[in-house]
Order: sequence, then C-alpha cells, then structure tokens
Amino acid sequence: MDEYRFLSRRGFNLFVKGLAGEYRVYGPVRKDGIPTLSRILEPVEPILTPVHISFRGFLLPPREVILRFNIKEERYIPIVEAEDQVLLGVHPCDIHAIRLLDKVFSYGTPDRNYMERRKKTIIIGMDCMPDEHCFCMSVNTMEVASGFDLFLHVIEGGFLVRTGTERGAELLSRHASTQPAKKKDIRGLEEFRQKKERAFITRLEAEPDALPLIYAGAYFNDIWERKGEICYGCGSCNHVCPTCYCFDVRDKVSGDLSEGERCRVWDGCMLEDFAKVAGGHNFRKKRSQRLRHRFLRKFQYQRDRFGGLFCVGCGRCIRTCLVGINIAEVTNEIIRSEEKR
Ligand code: SF4
Ligand code: SF4
Repeated sequence: MDEYRFLSRRGFNLFVKGLAGEYRVYGPVRKDGIPTLSRILEPVEPILTPVHISFRGFLLPPREVILRFNIKEERYIPIVEAEDQVLLGVHPCDIHAIRLLDKVFSYGTPDRNYMERRKKTIIIGMDCMPDEHCFCMSVNTMEVASGFDLFLHVIEGGFLVRTGTERGAELLSRHASTQPAKKKDIRGLEEFRQKKERAFITRLEAEPDALPLIYAGAYFNDIWERKGEICYGCGSCNHVCPTCYCFDVRDKVSGDLSEGERCRVWDGCMLEDFAKVAGGHNFRKKRSQRLRHRFLRKFQYQRDRFGGLFCVGCGRCIRTCLVGINIAEVTNEIIRSEEKR
C-alpha cells in the first residue's frame, strides 16, 4: 500500500477539518510555546519538533476503571471504555513505541481494554526534525514502514502521503483531495531525510544490535551508584516515556463495603514504592537499583522478551529529568567502559 500522493497545505487543513467533524482527534499543539498534546477541533500548524509528552495516555489512560463490583449481589462488571479516535501527527519514534505496546498488551492473555482502544484508534504519522536530545537514528526508529494508517512527509507546499492500511486509504479518499506525487516531490522527500540525518546532535556510539549485550555486561558498573546519588526518584522519566507501561491496580470500596470499583493507574519503576511487597520489603529500595533496572529494561530485558529495544530514542526522559540524567550519555559511558574491559 506504499504509494505516495501529494496533499497540499490547504488540502491538509480541509482533511483535518473533516476528521475533526467525524472523530475525536488528538495531536501536537503548542501551549505557552511548549509542544504538547491536545484535542484538535480545527486545522493546526504541523509540529515537527519533539512533543514533551507521548501518545501513550490515549491507549493506556493514566487512570481507568476496569471493573465495577457489588459484593452483596456477587456481581462483577468488566468496564471497557473505548471511543473511535484519531492520533494525528504521530512521529516515527512514537509509532515504533505504539508497536511495542501492541506487543506487550497482546502477549499471553491480551489486555482487553488496551486492545479494544487500539482497534478504535487511527494513527496518522508525520515526519519530524530532531532536537538536541533525540537519538532515534541510533536505535533504528528514525523511519517507520508500518504501524500507521496514513503517514505524512513534509515537503515544499504540502505533504507526501503514504497509505499504510485500507482504513487509511478510505479515510483519505473520503476527506482529502490528493494528486499523484511528482518527481520533484520525491526529491523533496529525500532532501528532508538528509537534512534530518544531519540535524542529530545526540548519537549512541554502538550499533543498536550490540546494546543488549553491552548492557548485560554493565550490571555492576559504578555508573548506577553515581547517577543514583543525584536521582530524585521522582518517576518523571517513567511518566513521559512512550514505552513505559507499568500500572498499579487499586480498589475503591464504598463505606459499607458492599460495592466498589477497580482502577488501574500508571506506576513507575523509579518510584520508591514500586517494588515494595507485603511485609514492607523492597527489592529495589535504592535509587541506583531502580535506575539500573529502568535502563536494563529499555536496552536488554524487554528485547529478550519482545524482540526489540524498548528505548525508541525520543529523548523525553532527558528533557524532563531535573538533575540531567541523560540516557544517551549514560549509554555512551557504558559503551566506552565495556570496550575497555
Ligand atoms: S526523571 Fe531524573 S531524577 Fe526523576 S526519577 Fe528519572 S532519572 Fe531520577
Ligand atoms: S527511555 Fe527515554 S529516550 Fe528512550 S523511549 Fe523512553 S523516554 Fe524516550
């Protein structure tokens, strides 16, 4: 389904208007100058720079009710709330992240709430330009070949549209007027790609395939103690990461203990209570242990289980960390120290 079509800027505006009239559309907007995500009701200026939060919350809400129960009547009602929605302007690294979440939530017994929401979600990707913290080129997520319904490449005067699914093709024909791409449009695409490659400031100093083994050797590296000393254990890095998906399950029960609801809420492995178990024991009490665990999950543990690095190089955890713990710098330091061994 990989045919390029040209969509003018005006055509894009009409497309967004048409989508917003039919679906709940979410995408990047600027608020107080900062790119964030919001409901889109009318055409917006495309945002090519990184967005500070990820699209994860539209598939796995920060808090959701998953069950209502009545103990007296022995009734248990599973709750699945999913609406048709369009995620517009999803950058390639975030499409890779959603594909990873798809693997996680369909693994073993599929997670009904996630899967239902995912089925009702249309993904319209858009190419982007890195800032100083992006390193997607180093983890093979700078480009994307699938995982979207439509993908928009920015070129002079508009976009080149790639269609990824029948649903995307149908959406395009219903809401947009496109023309076949010309040779100069394809040249524009290549120029954008080259400009993007040159724009990367942050790069990892090893090939992505080598990273799991490098990290496996770094379990006892002293970097964890050093970084753990300055880390606040605030969990902001978990919060913004597009591939973090851990959650806690909590029951809220009425005063007379007759009924209640069960919710799941985002959790994060950098928070002190995350690994606390019955009896008050905590198997990752130290911040250095939690930091090591988070980094190893991104580069080794999850790869072993799901077959892909769980860091897509979006740079969000770097942008958000108050004490400047930088996953790319840490990784490069580990690479260098492993080379010396
Ligand atoms: S954002 Fe920084 S300070 Fe907060 S938990 Fe993550 S690494 Fe530690
Ligand atoms: S670990 Fe950091 S850079 Fe990697 S995907 Fe998560 S937020 Fe992005």
